[in-house]
Amino acid sequence: MLRLYNTLSRSKEEFHPLDPANVRLYVCGPTVYDFAHIGNARPLIVFDILFRVLRHLYGDAHVTYVRNITDVDDKIILRAAEEGVSIPNLTLRTAEQYHQDAAALSCLAPSHEPRATAYIPAMIAMISRLIENGHAYEAEGHVLFEVASRPDYGKLARRSLDEMIAGARVEVAPYKKNAMDFVLWKPSDAAQPGWGSPWGRGRPGWHIECSAMSEALLGESFDIHGGGIDLVFPHHENEIAQSESAHSGKPPARIWMHNGFLQVEGEKMSKSLGNFFTIHDLLKDWPGEVLRFNMLRTHYRQPTDWTLHGMKESWTTLERFYGIAEPVLATALSADFLAALCDDLNTPLAITELHKCNPAELGGGLGVLGFSVVQDRIAARAPVDPQEIAGAIAARAAARKIRDFAEADRIRDGLAARGIILKDLPTGTTWEVKR
Ligand code: AMP
Ligand code: ZN
Repeated sequence: MLRLYNTLSRSKEEFHPLDPANVRLYVCGPTVYDFAHIGNARPLIVFDILFRVLRHLYGDAHVTYVRNITDVDDKIILRAAEEGVSIPNLTLRTAEQYHQDAAALSCLAPSHEPRATAYIPAMIAMISRLIENGHAYEAEGHVLFEVASRPDYGKLARRSLDEMIAGARVEVAPYKKNAMDFVLWKPSDAAQPGWGSPWGRGRPGWHIECSAMSEALLGESFDIHGGGIDLVFPHHENEIAQSESAHSGKPPARIWMHNGFLQVEGEKMSKSLGNFFTIHDLLKDWPGEVLRFNMLRTHYRQPTDWTLHGMKESWTTLERFYGIAEPVLATALSADFLAALCDDLNTPLAITELHKCNPAELGGGLGVLGFSVVQDRIAARAPVDPQEIAGAIAARAAARKIRDFAEADRIRDGLAARGIILKDLPTGTTWEVKR
């Protein structure tokens, strides 16, 4: 029995899908204007684990996972202008990079990955419905959601209207009836991306994107909606308000799940502190599966501290697991391992259980966590230390000089086993990493 913590009820609940033949999950995806950072890797990995657990329990063909791409946003407009590139150039390039990062972290591709710009008509239709049934109003080319039209607004965040106004950076604008009213549609000038609408040429607000895309791909009601804890308010609160207002009060998702935040070496990650890491950069030094394993050592709802020390420990543990695990029997699972995962995705406990498993169950368990044991045994390598390699090259040259070719080959093969390939050129020996 799968139990999941529901932010809406602030408690763990038994999971009963609306339709076991089609379990439906929606997770808010990235806004594509820059490389994803290690914090963004957390929801990516956490909800990939959920996807895999659901597939294990209900069958691969019976789970639909939607993760959107936000490709219309003011941050995108700004960045494209700064770089002097077109918006599609920036968003396509960034989305492609995101796919590469996700694949390197062993995340399965979601079933659908809708791009917001491909669903503008669905957004316009939903906004029109909200105006018709009295939950939204047009003002100066904008369409705003009228928060006062929903007495239960704030039920996810569990905050009063006053707290919400104080806590959120609400934009005060003369055309708003209430400071909390949020934008569904806003006008675009000639230089900004825009689409024709009943309210003039403009573009959607961020919140309506997810309501419209989840409705289009998963229906009015689905099982689970996920994202980082920072999205509870206002993003998810607003999604609930919009979708319930458009669907006669029907809640969009039954369970709302949120991952805790990640910080780095005890501090909030920020560019100014110099502790800001993109996934792309970390992958130059660490195999993706070590990043993934490191993330799973903390329960997804806890805050997590990403440290160099923790990464090294993760590498050692994973290598040891790979050394013991038996592939093939991916279906063999220890009951305690599965019970840990089914208890609100308790991956740290599941990893503790893996330490007790026999080789077949260990292989099976790693498989469910997204580690492909056969390939990853090859992929698990010691970190590359250029100084150490220079030393090994010198030792090999010295061995060759005294015609100790056995020793020279032993050094070369030892490096090759770690993916470090030596190349003898007329100018000397160089090396490259083949991973
Ligand atoms: P963003 O691109 O900022 O909208 O973030 C994309 C996803 O990453 C959202 O689900 C965020 O909640 C999540 N996220 C952003 N920063 C962090 C962080 N430091 N730790 C955990 N999750 C984060
Ligand atoms: Zn969203």
